[in-house]
Amino acid sequence: MAPTGGNGDDACANCGGPADGLEQVRRVYMSVDSEGRLTASETMEISEGWCLSCRALYPHFPVAPGGPGAGDPPEADQES
Ligand SMILES: [Zn+2]
Repeated sequence: MAPTGGNGDDACANCGGPADGLEQVRRVYMSVDSEGRLTASETMEISEGWCLSCRALYPHFPVAPGGPGAGDPPEADQES
C-alpha cells in the first residue's frame, strides 16, 4: 500500500512551493526569551507535508507514514 497520493494537493504545506521530497511532519513552535534562550516548545497535533527546504530550515517532528505507534523503524539510509 502506497501512502502517497492521498491528499490530492502536491504542495508544501509550509511554504506552498512544489512538493520537493514532501514528507509528513508535525510543526514545532518554539518560544524564546528576549535573549534568544529557548523557554518552551510545542508540537502540533496535526501533520503537514513539508518540502526538503522547509524541513531543513524549520523545527519539526517527523511523522512515520502509516500512523503512529506502529513500531516500525524509519527507513535508514545511513549505515556506518
Ligand atoms: Zn516548503
